[in-house]
This record gives sequence, structure tokens and C-alpha cells, in this order.
Amino acid sequence: MKDVWVYIETENNSIKKVSLELLNEGKKLATKLKGNLVAVYLNKTDLSHEIAKYGAKKIIHLFNNNIEHYDTLIYTNALAEIITEKKPHIILFGATHIGRDLAPRLAAKLNTGLTADCTHLDLDENGLLMQTRPAFGGNIMATIYCPEHIPQMATVRPGVFEMSVPTENIKYEVEKIELKNDKPLIRILDIINKNSLSKDISESNVIVAGGRGLGKPDGFKLLEELAQLLNGCVGASRAAVESGWANPEIQVGQTGKTVKPKIYIACGISGAIQHVAGMKDSKCIIAINKNKDAPIFKIADFGIVGDLYEVIPQLINKLKEEKI
Ligand code: FAD
Repeated sequence: MKDVWVYIETENNSIKKVSLELLNEGKKLATKLKGNLVAVYLNKTDLSHEIAKYGAKKIIHLFNNNIEHYDTLIYTNALAEIITEKKPHIILFGATHIGRDLAPRLAAKLNTGLTADCTHLDLDENGLLMQTRPAFGGNIMATIYCPEHIPQMATVRPGVFEMSVPTENIKYEVEKIELKNDKPLIRILDIINKNSLSKDISESNVIVAGGRGLGKPDGFKLLEELAQLLNGCVGASRAAVESGWANPEIQVGQTGKTVKPKIYIACGISGAIQHVAGMKDSKCIIAINKNKDAPIFKIADFGIVGDLYEVIPQLINKLKEEKI
């Protein structure tokens, strides 16, 4: 049986969006392979019903009441054991911090290959996973195979696949496996909430993104203020990242993150094709640019022609008035 597994990442008992996106894509692969789509997760609390709503008919729930947080060694050992026993054909992970930590360790332990940060997946006529990702700084797209080792493993960029519409009327089976009490080598003392500048932008409903048009690093403080009022987070163009004004973690585009928020506000961003590749599927795009001919206006739902340092403070004041 050529089963496709999706690793379901959880944080504070909620499921990462990318895992649900992967369930939808994994289902297509499993159907083509005539195998099962299997969701596997490690969490103290039972989240199986929520996972099943997004298409998983088989779920493996690994748990241990003493495991509260992600632990590289405990997770790697637990997953390696179950994968060795059940031999899935393909395993997909989100290319998140945890996915990027866990998947390579597992691949090494299972003596198989891993393609990181895929933006497209397909199967060839022999059922081999075609794992496509940008390479050489985004100048080429490389399709990578792992023909001699099973499972074929990939991490996939958040936001590149659509998740399915959840459905309540579902049948699914759950295999619950209690993990033995491995002593963690790391003790977590405290978890400090991230501020919105470093939030995972691919999970956010609102992104306020800044480009070279900000002209200076301090411009991001203004964007941060707007993002906070909208309960969103801040993104950046590559030009802003390369100027050293923003962290590469928040770069949007072909060589950055793919995002699909409800609202994307592009501030001082021209709309180069490589930037647009990462945000064009946002539900509502608002562009603020002083050049009325900037290409970003071609894909914007709403365009404001003007200096962002005049427009954004007005937006902030208006939002503050509304909130009082
Ligand atoms: P610019 O193109 O310089 O645009 C700045 C804009 O700000 C202009 O439109 C200007 O009119 C406006 N402006 C200036 N001052 C103000 C003001 N005061 N108020 C309002 N508007 C103002 N880019 C990405 O973003 N993401 C990627 O992932 C990415 N990957 C790439 C991969 C490859 C292989 C290559 C070759 C390029 C890639 N790029 C990427 C770079 C991309 O081609 C552009 O160079 C980049 O997106 C431009 O960033 P920008 O829009 O911030 O800057």
C-alpha cells in the first residue's frame, strides 16, 4: 500500500494552517497512488476530529501526558519508530521552524532523502514524488526525486496549496499510541510571545508589507503600528530585506514566503513579478505607492496614489478613532 502521510503540526492545541493545506494536497497524491491519506500528530490533547474535518480518514495520534512542547529528540524517535513499522510511501511536513528541524533529522534516521521548501508536488508515471522548489536564489525551479529510498520526504512552503473546506459529516479511524516516558534533554522554562514583527506571516489574516519605498529602516515601525491595529503582522519585499531593514523571515515572494491573507497592504512596493508571485492570491490587495504607474496597481483591489508617510499616519489615526 502506497500511503501518503502528512505530519500535523500543533501549537498550543491548535493546528498549523500549512498542515491542513498539506492534507488537501496529500489526498490528491494518495488518490493517484491508490493508497491512504494518513495524518500523524503528537499532542497531549486529542485533535483528531478537527484533523478529520480536513480530509484525513486515518489518523495516528501519538501522545504522552508528560510531553507539553515540541522536543526534537522525542519527536524524532517517536516518529521514526512508527514510520519504520508502517512504511509510508511519502511523508509531507510544513516548511515551518519545527518542520525544518524535524524532517531532516527523521530523514537521516530513516536513511532516506528530503527535499526542503517545495512549492509544487506531483507524481511521475512510476509513482515517484516530483518535488519542485526554487534553486540558485530563485533563478531556476529544480524538480528533485528520491528514487531509491522510502519514504520520500518533503517539507512544503506554507501557503502554496489551498486547504479544503472543512466538513462535519465524516467517518475516520484513529490509532492512539502512548509514547514511553523518554526523559527530555531540554527543559523549557518559559515561552515568550512573539511580537507581530516576528510572527509567522503565512498564518496571518492581515499583512502590512513594506518595500524600498519606505526609504529607511524606521519606516517599518510605522507599518508595525498599522499591523498591530489590524491584528496582523508585517511583511517585506526582498529589496527591503536586502537593505537590512527587515528580517528575511518576513520576505514575501518567489524566494520568500507565499502568503494568502484576507488583506495584504503593499506599502512602497513596486509590484515586481517575483514579489507578486508570493502574494497575488491574497483576498484583498491594497497598494500605497506614490507612482500611479507602479505595476502593483494592476493587481490591487484598492490603490492609493500618494506618499506612504502621509497616507499611513492618516489610516492609523482613523483606526484609532474607530477603536475608541
Ligand atoms: P522597488 O522596485 O524599488 O519599488 C519601490 C516602490 O516604492 C516604487 O514603486 C516607488 O514608486 C515606491 N515609493 C518610493 N517612495 C515612496 C513613498 N514615499 N510612498 C509610497 N511609495 C513610494 N522580490 C521580492 O519582493 N520577493 C522575492 O521573493 C524576490 N525574489 C527574487 C528572485 C529573483 C531570482 C530575482 C532576480 C529577484 C527577486 N526579487 C524578489 C526582487 C524583485 O525583482 C524586485 O527587485 C523587488 O521586489 C523590488 O522591491 P520593492 O518593490 O520594495 O522596490
